[in-house]
Amino acid sequence: MNSFSTRVLAWFDAHGRKHLPWQQDISAYRVWVSEIMLQQTQVTTVIPYFERFMQRFPTVTDLANAPQDEVLHLWTGLGYYARARNLHKAAQNIAEQYNGEFPQTLEEVMALPGIGRSTAGAILSIACGQSHPILDGNVKRVLARYYAVDGWPGKKQVEQQLWQYATQNTPAERTNDYTQVMMDLGAMICTRSKPRCDECPLQQDCIAYAQGNQTDYPGKKPKKALPVKSTVMWIPFYQGSVLLKQRPTTGIWGGLWSFVESESADDIPTDIARFAGKEYNAELLSPFRHTFSHYHLDIQPKLLHCQSLNQVIGESGHSWVSLHEPLTVGVPTPVKRLLTELSKQL
Ligand code: SF4
Repeated sequence: MNSFSTRVLAWFDAHGRKHLPWQQDISAYRVWVSEIMLQQTQVTTVIPYFERFMQRFPTVTDLANAPQDEVLHLWTGLGYYARARNLHKAAQNIAEQYNGEFPQTLEEVMALPGIGRSTAGAILSIACGQSHPILDGNVKRVLARYYAVDGWPGKKQVEQQLWQYATQNTPAERTNDYTQVMMDLGAMICTRSKPRCDECPLQQDCIAYAQGNQTDYPGKKPKKALPVKSTVMWIPFYQGSVLLKQRPTTGIWGGLWSFVESESADDIPTDIARFAGKEYNAELLSPFRHTFSHYHLDIQPKLLHCQSLNQVIGESGHSWVSLHEPLTVGVPTPVKRLLTELSKQL
């Protein structure tokens, strides 16, 4: 056993969780159901669901014979319902192909619906005493920090590197406890935002701890480049006021007051023409970018210094707003920015 596994196993003996419901009357079926429920869900949430599930479906065959509606009903509130559908389907496969006995090889278990390499390894090591590495989200975090593995674990190369570390540290003996403790360490000590390194058995040679940048690992998913849209905001200015228009209640900036927009700076929108008449000097202001969660908006403001007005205040949906008085309507951030800049200049 290497020093990594010796240390975490010693920590398990002193602090690991040993009284969870699926750690009693251990069987591959019970460990499997718990592992699936624990994906994306906290232990405390899972416990009552697990107990109800086991009461209703004490064996794989009971689960296989149940109507899907009932399985989904017992899953209600756990979310990610594909997990429950796969569990049900896999139970039927086990009932048909293996006579209700949980298969015992990694390949056979991984061939069941909804079971990946890590879950298969966890079931066979915890329930059957076999030695297989696991690499769930918790373990990825511990290993990525301990070895300072750069990059997002969703990338093939990074994942392969983590599997290699997981494999080299998995002991041949006590793999059941080792599997459990690696999950415990990730969930209880090497937590996502505030790892409790002072209580961690791996602290003495954890690279991220030594570097002081634990939360940089594992690397984040690279952000996709956002699409860029562009718009022209028309700003008629007359005697200290600018013209705003209320946006429709649905869609972006719903119900807020904004400048009239168009795609091109050459074609004056009809409502602007209606207000501003023909006597104006046009000035292109500095363009700027406003970023939404799903796209960038490049804004080209176009200021029209109006000499006179065709129509004065009060046409429905439009309003002349003074640059030098406090706003009384809601405006989007980039409009606010423009109004502030203009109030200093004009
Ligand atoms: S020392 Fe800290 S960062 Fe390193 S494995 Fe332990 S808890 Fe995680």
